[in-house]
Amino acid sequence: MSSGRRIDREKKTIAAMMAIYCRDHHASARGLCQECTGLLDYAQRRLDTCPFQEEKPACNLCEVHCYAAAMRERTRAVMRYAGPRMLLPHPILSLGHMLDKWRPVPRLKARKRDR
Ligand code: SF4
Ligand SMILES: [Zn+2]
Repeated sequence: MSSGRRIDREKKTIAAMMAIYCRDHHASARGLCQECTGLLDYAQRRLDTCPFQEEKPACNLCEVHCYAAAMRERTRAVMRYAGPRMLLPHPILSLGHMLDKWRPVPRLKARKRDR
């Protein structure tokens, strides 16, 4: 599925975070382990179907919370670990991720009414 710049950036960010997390927790020298591949696929599918797309807020501020509880917890653990370790290898993605929390949080019902 083709996506806009914002969603593409988020896909790159979560992939980079997952690579850091997997390297340090699962000793994966090349690519992601099976468990992390599954989690990354899941997170990227969430981004593909996110109803906000280019207006997407930070997921932790979102009113929809489309993640299943267990997947949300696993993704949070990855972000908690990898977030502070992103700055040196991925400064631009890291800055974008930090700024995302200041983005306005759209309301889903208001968006539907506007259409
Ligand atoms: S939690 Fe909200 S912002 Fe994040 S992908 Fe799901 S719907 Fe989109
Ligand atoms: Zn892994």
